[in-house]
Amino acid sequence: MKEKHYLHQTVQLAIDSVRSGGGPFGAIVIGQDGHIIGTGQNIVTKANDPTAHAEIQAIRQACENLNTFDLSSCTLYASCEPCPMCLGAIYWAKIEKVYYTADQQQAAAGGFDDQFIYKELNKTPEERDLSFHSIDLDENNQPFEEWIDKDDKEQY
Ligand SMILES: [Zn+2]
Repeated sequence: MKEKHYLHQTVQLAIDSVRSGGGPFGAIVIGQDGHIIGTGQNIVTKANDPTAHAEIQAIRQACENLNTFDLSSCTLYASCEPCPMCLGAIYWAKIEKVYYTADQQQAAAGGFDDQFIYKELNKTPEERDLSFHSIDLDENNQPFEEWIDKDDKEQY
C-alpha cells in the first residue's frame, strides 16, 4: 500500500526532526506522478518561526520545486493530523487529498494541543480568547477596488 509507504517516511522525518532539535512532525507532498516534490519537518523553535510546521515547510518546498502556488493534483502525507493553520494552507494550496497517521489526541498528549484553536473557530469574534477588533476606515475597500480594476493580475 503506497499510502503506508509514504506515511512511514513522514514518521521517519518526524523522528529525525526530534533527533536534530526540531519538533516531532514530518510531512511530504507527492505529485501526480508519485514523486516526492516537497518534504518538511517542524522547525518552529529552530527557525523562530511559529508557522514553520512540517506541512507548511513541505508545501513551500513543493511550490518552489514546481514553480507554482497551485498544488492541485498533489497529495499531502503527514505524520500527524494537520492543525487548523496547516489545514488552511492545504486548502489555499488546492491540495486534493491528505493522509495522516497520528491524530489530534496523540498530538495533545505530546504537548501539542490545537483543540483550543478548533474551539475558537466555532466562536464569534467577540467570544474568542483572542482580542479581535474591526475598525472602519474610509479607504478600507481601495485595495480590492484596485485589484478588481487591474487588468494584468494573476488570479488565484
Ligand atoms: Zn500545523
